Amino acid sequence: MEASEAKEKILALRAEVEEHSRRYYDEDAPTISDFEYDKLIHTLMDLEQQFPQFLTPDSPTQHVGGKVSSKFAPVDHEVPLESLMDVFSHEELFAFGDRVEGAVGGQTEYDVEPKIDGLSIAVEYRNGEFFRGATRGNGQTGEDVTENLRTIRTLPKTLKNAPERIIVRGEVYMAKDTFEMLNRRFEVEGKPLLANPRNGAAGSLRQKDPKIAAERQLDLIVYNIQLATREYKTHTETLDALREMGFDVVPYKRYDNIRQCVEQIEWIGAHRDEFPYEMDGAVIKLNDLSQRTVLGSTTKVPRWAVAYKYPPEVKPAKVLDIIVQVGRTGVLTPKVVIEPIRLAGTTVSNATLHNQDFIDKLGVRIGDTVMVRKAGEIIPEVVEVDLSKRPDGTVPFRLPDVCPECGSPVVRDADGAAMRCTGAECPAQKLRNITHFASKEGMDIDGLGEAVVETLVNAGLVNTPADLYYLDAQSVATLERMGKKSAENLVAAIEASKAQGLARLLAAFGIRQVGVSAGRTLARRYTDLDALMRATPEELMQIGDIGPVTAQYIVEWFASEQSQHQIRRLREAGVSFESKEDIRDARFAGKTFVLTGTLESFTRDEATAIIVGFGGKASGSVSKKTDYVLAGEAAGSKLTKAQSLGIPILTEAQFREMIQ
Ligand code: NAD
Repeated sequence: MEASEAKEKILALRAEVEEHSRRYYDEDAPTISDFEYDKLIHTLMDLEQQFPQFLTPDSPTQHVGGKVSSKFAPVDHEVPLESLMDVFSHEELFAFGDRVEGAVGGQTEYDVEPKIDGLSIAVEYRNGEFFRGATRGNGQTGEDVTENLRTIRTLPKTLKNAPERIIVRGEVYMAKDTFEMLNRRFEVEGKPLLANPRNGAAGSLRQKDPKIAAERQLDLIVYNIQLATREYKTHTETLDALREMGFDVVPYKRYDNIRQCVEQIEWIGAHRDEFPYEMDGAVIKLNDLSQRTVLGSTTKVPRWAVAYKYPPEVKPAKVLDIIVQVGRTGVLTPKVVIEPIRLAGTTVSNATLHNQDFIDKLGVRIGDTVMVRKAGEIIPEVVEVDLSKRPDGTVPFRLPDVCPECGSPVVRDADGAAMRCTGAECPAQKLRNITHFASKEGMDIDGLGEAVVETLVNAGLVNTPADLYYLDAQSVATLERMGKKSAENLVAAIEASKAQGLARLLAAFGIRQVGVSAGRTLARRYTDLDALMRATPEELMQIGDIGPVTAQYIVEWFASEQSQHQIRRLREAGVSFESKEDIRDARFAGKTFVLTGTLESFTRDEATAIIVGFGGKASGSVSKKTDYVLAGEAAGSKLTKAQSLGIPILTEAQFREMIQ
């Protein structure tokens, strides 16, 4: 590979890794599995090794991924809490062994442990008393979560026969049984469910209120002495000592050489289901502590240990049924209902089939046995059909021609594989349409969340968004959990929303691809709804940020009879159709901004709306035409590109100053 090609690849990979890290750490919403993520890091590392001239300290291969939130007091780790280098094959494991043995000059002992998938922490004891505990954070500085840790039953509050001072590293986790039990309870109580045991543990330990951590019944298992005022010679000796002090210690097996370790790695992999906690690999560590010092660490990982990562679990399951659900935008989504299986820590009983094309490609039928795995370890997906298990008499599955909710005809989108219900009053879309209309992304009506909308719909008081403006406090007060005062408040909030203006109204309609930002753009161009309704697609496309597809969606939406009916009723109710966008202050006129990374005080949509509001443009990619790049935390390739093009980079603070 040419150096220039390698550089491009390295930059692209870094951007990809950083984007996934952002989704994983900031949004708790990964879109690829950990296994796939680890492979990306590995590829990046290989390339950086081949082309060290492109290796810079800000590469994600060079530092520990997590963050330190200002919610907690910082704790500087006396001994850094490092990450681990991954290996994916026996060859890579043996190469690690060769490196270690080369450095220490001969064969050496290792121990093999399960790699627990939880949240890494360090706990400190002074004179045998629990003193303080902190998260890993960025490896150098963590967050003080002492009070939350105190609620953990398996964290000993006092130690037996402990050294005067000791810092121990371990993993806080939510046991698989606890996770299932809590989710069953949350379901009954109507609370949001935990996505998986790891998120359950991380989410509760990093809450300000220790009561939440206590409720979540977390556990602690330890696997390393970071620092102690007592000497130990081997790792296994420290693990035994920790057990005697009263800790729950990771199970381990010791081996005389690296090749023997395979036995235990395979065993752990085959018995993953039987451990009480989630696991994503095995850790292989050099046993002799003085030899560890010889090897040392990189900025991110120790050179004396590796994590052997197992591929994601894939399991067979029988397809009991294929059902079709109708979404808010009317899209029909088929799902397989499977015989419940346990997969990566949770019980799975259904998986999405996306659309007819996906079903056709898989060839899945009711009665089949399918292989299921979790994407991003969270969302179950069907990988393939085991045709050898197909029973007689099955038939190919086709999505219905009419909507399963309202019986209206279903049409295929011109621009994709989605099938859509054409029913104007489709009940499946009713609840979601009204909820969206009232939401923060729409008319922003205080106190009108999904639960209240559901009550109103179930009582037959509203069927369309426009019905909201015909509600009277008296009828609302008769509803369950409503009372006179709250009914009056709700009706007053609805009344107040009449003055929100065109931009929000457009976003509230739920026209495809028209959210708050596009709503503002349109409201800056048209003085009122009537003017916009007369616009042709060609005219709309003249406006920056409105592409041909969006223009078509807008025109089609206004042309439909149901929309016109809704607009008539909103007008009669006195809802303002006028634009309130004040564009006199066009301080960003002619300027194009690109956003990258995570901002602290705005979401991306909010920052975009501000830029557009001041007459500027927000674009998705950096080019010579870009005037400013607004860079938040963990900014990726866009930042690098802007730097190489010499485009001014704004910090969030500078941007805030500009908009004051
Ligand atoms: P890592 O989690 O793979 O390995 C290091 C961690 O292993 C340590 O911090 C420690 O807490 C833990 N560990 C568990 N048992 C251990 C034992 N017996 N001995 C020593 N350590 C043990 O790597 P990382 O860099 O710390 O974290 C990144 C993790 O987050 C990876 O699992 C990665 O796949 C995941 N991730 C996923 C995405 C995604 O998009 N899916 C994005 C970012 C990160």
